[in-house]
Amino acid sequence: MSKFARVLLDDSGGRVFDYGIPEAAAAVVAVGSRVRVPVRMRALLGTVIAVSETTEAEGIREISEVMSAEPTMSAQLIRLAEWVANYYCCPLEAALRSVLPGVIRKAEVGHKKRLVARIAREVSEEEIATIRKRAPNQAEVIVTLLAAKTPMLVSEIAEKCSVAPQTIRALEKKGLLSVEPETVARDPHGSETFVPNSKLELNVEQTVVFARVLAAIAANGLEPAPKPMLLHGVTGSGKTEIYLQAIQQVLDRGESAILLVPEISLTPQTVERFKSRFAATQHEVAVLHSHLSEGERHDEWHRIRSGAARVVIGARSAVFAPVEKLGIVIVDEEHENTYKQEEMPRYHGRDLAVLRGHMEKCAVLLGSATPSLESYHHAVAGKYELLRLTVRVDDQKMPFIRIVDMRMEAKKSSPIISDPLAKAITARLEKKEQVILFLNRRGFSTTLLCGKCGYVHECPNCSISLTFHRAANRVVCHMCGHLAVAPTKCPGCKDPGIKYTGTGTEKVEDTVCKFFPKAVVKRMDADVMQRREAYRETLNAFRTGKIDILVGTQMIAKGLHFPNVTLVGIVNADMGLHLPDFRASERTFQLLTQVAGRAGRGDVEGEVVVQSYTPFHPAIQFARHHDFEGFYEQEIEWRQKMGQPPFTHFVLITVRSPHQERGRFSTETLHRRLKEALPKNVTLGEFAPAPLEKSHGNFRFHIAIRAHAITKVSRMIRDVLDKLTMPEDVFAVVDVDAIQLL
Ligand code: ADP
Ligand code: ZN
Repeated sequence: MSKFARVLLDDSGGRVFDYGIPEAAAAVVAVGSRVRVPVRMRALLGTVIAVSETTEAEGIREISEVMSAEPTMSAQLIRLAEWVANYYCCPLEAALRSVLPGVIRKAEVGHKKRLVARIAREVSEEEIATIRKRAPNQAEVIVTLLAAKTPMLVSEIAEKCSVAPQTIRALEKKGLLSVEPETVARDPHGSETFVPNSKLELNVEQTVVFARVLAAIAANGLEPAPKPMLLHGVTGSGKTEIYLQAIQQVLDRGESAILLVPEISLTPQTVERFKSRFAATQHEVAVLHSHLSEGERHDEWHRIRSGAARVVIGARSAVFAPVEKLGIVIVDEEHENTYKQEEMPRYHGRDLAVLRGHMEKCAVLLGSATPSLESYHHAVAGKYELLRLTVRVDDQKMPFIRIVDMRMEAKKSSPIISDPLAKAITARLEKKEQVILFLNRRGFSTTLLCGKCGYVHECPNCSISLTFHRAANRVVCHMCGHLAVAPTKCPGCKDPGIKYTGTGTEKVEDTVCKFFPKAVVKRMDADVMQRREAYRETLNAFRTGKIDILVGTQMIAKGLHFPNVTLVGIVNADMGLHLPDFRASERTFQLLTQVAGRAGRGDVEGEVVVQSYTPFHPAIQFARHHDFEGFYEQEIEWRQKMGQPPFTHFVLITVRSPHQERGRFSTETLHRRLKEALPKNVTLGEFAPAPLEKSHGNFRFHIAIRAHAITKVSRMIRDVLDKLTMPEDVFAVVDVDAIQLL
């Protein structure tokens, strides 16, 4: 034994041991290798995280098995995981779990093997005739295979010739056929065909932007790494075309590309666009998202790892895709909150994309119509290169946005569909154009209130009120999923006068149907779109004009292109505006701009009607004038004054417990320890009950920390937590660069 491997064991709470590397395996064991090692009487799986010439451990044992000849994870991805662990204050094991999906870790899930039959030797006509006399089925199989001219799946032959597998086995025994298991990739899009499409001629603005992107790609691998680029392009300005051509360039250089998109916009439409483009050049595209089966995920991962697929499209975790020779990482809709993982490790996909690009010295391109304040701030400060697309392709005008003051209108007309909105819908329907109505809340009524005793029907596990879903006749908690039959009288005082108030998409659909009885109305939200095909079906029906009005949640807000949609109505623009969250304005501005971007993508100018009770709020007014810079300047000034991100890192510690007093007490202790440990330049807020005080039966408390440099602070927090023993039913969660503040 001349070398030693440091092995992090799977599912062991982060235990690390040194093992000897057997001479025979010396050449194959490297950082990232998956190995089986002896631990007491058992053999466990683990990952090699370091290799060295010496060890201080005693009683060294040897690695008993190396799971594959090549390291399963590249050394670079291990470094990325280490960075994640240090920055986001979590165990390395948790970070590695993101890098290596569960199905790849589990040694037992292999490639899918299926039996394939082929003709083993020449067969003459006479011979076939002889066989036909005694066994017509066998002859049929031979004839079919000869006609096919290629090997066929045994299952396929069996079906085509209506024979039992034994018939094929019998031919194998005779030496006429050979039957062998072969790896068949499970391609989630295998049954679809993609019409190749070729690149478009770029317009003037696109050409300027693309030249910068090409320059960055040309600098791949050089020192210093190219600056990340932020592409601020209005909706419909042709950002995606830039992504497509940038990826083509990277492929031509023999490199690979990763494109991150928000899970929600990983629609068939998006995937199709990319598959089709690269179908023309015979390049394979791998798709990673949360709806893949284990087998599909396994196969996509190996297609990427082996270099068969050099374009990866996926949700946030695709930032860990095991590509070699990374040429570009693109993050579409970089401002999207779904890039932040809300469970351990709580990383931000966009920030990791920037980091990975830096580590691998390759181009990074972030794109958005409404960049996050963080990214735009970096661009203004010169850390990122700012690229702009200011006009829509073909010079289409930005939609006209009208604000309806609901303080006046709701009294005169309907609080759901005001007169101006109703008139606009009527006008569009008459012209056979299509309408989208947006409300970011599911269900029928959002609150059940007793008019007599004031009782509000809350979830027993969470401090939010239950939402009434009329179609199911249930009240549902949107936090924990608690479900109950809708009450007909007040659960408190038993008065039958219980009122259902507040509006969800179900009620909007209902109202629209009453207002426009002749129109075809469809709703699209998580309640009606539980089947994956339902989503596709509804979108197709909408695209082909079979639906007049589409009512939906944020599911319809992003990334969809429907040229015949000329009117978008935003039912309640104020919904997210008054939450106790320093990003509330930013989110409202982004959402309004994105939703408005769905209007008028064809030849007809689009129109947006925004209903609001606070029509003069800056987020609404800047969105109305399509003025991102104006919004940015006002908002960034406020953030600076308040010491909020991007001027600080915001760390949120949530302590939760089913037992209120124990939770409170532990929070207090933790707060005291942090006060002692953290340096003066770190701002430690007072501890307090979380805005969402109770969730899933747990009481929740918050401690907020603001710091300029985070990695050191992360380690200090970790140390404090490690030394603190908490009661068994109290848990603390550290969220670095937190997005979810409730
Ligand atoms: P974005 O990603 O900024 O929303 P897209 O790339 O989706 O914009 O472009 C919007 C539409 O314009 C798409 O239908 C796209 O095919 C088309 N398009 C983009 N660039 C060009 C171009 N240079 N010439 C013609 N059509 C284009
Ligand atoms: Zn609940």
